Amino acid sequence: MEGQGAAEDVPVIYLHEIKRQYMQGEAPLTILDGAKLALWPGQSVALVAPSGSGKSTLLHVAGLLEAPDSGEVYVAGRPTSQLPDIERTLLRRTEIGFVYQSHRLLPEFTALENVMLPQMIRGLKRSESVKRAKEILSYLGLGERTTHRPAELSGGEQQRVAIARAVANAPRALLADEPTGNLDPHTADHVFQALMQLVQATQVAMLIATHNMQLAGRMDRRVSIVDGQIVELD
Ligand code: ADP
Ligand code: MG
Repeated sequence: MEGQGAAEDVPVIYLHEIKRQYMQGEAPLTILDGAKLALWPGQSVALVAPSGSGKSTLLHVAGLLEAPDSGEVYVAGRPTSQLPDIERTLLRRTEIGFVYQSHRLLPEFTALENVMLPQMIRGLKRSESVKRAKEILSYLGLGERTTHRPAELSGGEQQRVAIARAVANAPRALLADEPTGNLDPHTADHVFQALMQLVQATQVAMLIATHNMQLAGRMDRRVSIVDGQIVELD
């Protein structure tokens, strides 16, 4: 699939027949077993499954952080398994944003700098990355917090900075692994709203692993993992 013209007709991420095993002593433990999933632009998808069923594994494979044992991950129509590591890394940096349960911000850096960093790593000029980082932080209601370090922010603010960092390079896909799992219900709702607002505004494709059925119910689509395969809920 060439260029971006056909982007609407192509899943942002397409997981095809993904198999992933871990060795447990001598015996292989099969976590994903032919998992298939298409993520579309502007669609929010909740991944709801019990602990240990493979949610994080699936997100890591979809985010090109972990290679499957077999199967293929297509990003914007491009197969990724045969790419040289450097190209796969570049693709991940530009097309995929990741949010974890804990914010994983760099403690020595301000909110602004944390959001600038991925842009500068990608090669953007400092002045441009400052401008964009300020825009995104303001958009997420953190305009007054740009010079704060993570320790000087509340849990919800830290998570919103982590979201800002994840979308700093305008990725096509936003993957979030229980992003509200550490937050109280009110703060979780606020952070969730920020994620949904981004999907609306940017048409990013979003996959969120969550145990929160109430939040999952507000997303476009719900899927689960059963015996290593993706099943649609509802
Ligand atoms: P979830 O996110 O749904 O809780 P995970 O994807 O983290 O599930 O893990 C699925 C299963 O795979 C678990 O049983 C876990 O113990 C196992 N697992 C995950 N990562 C590894 C690893 N690096 N090595 C061995 N087993 C792993
Ligand atoms: Mg997990």
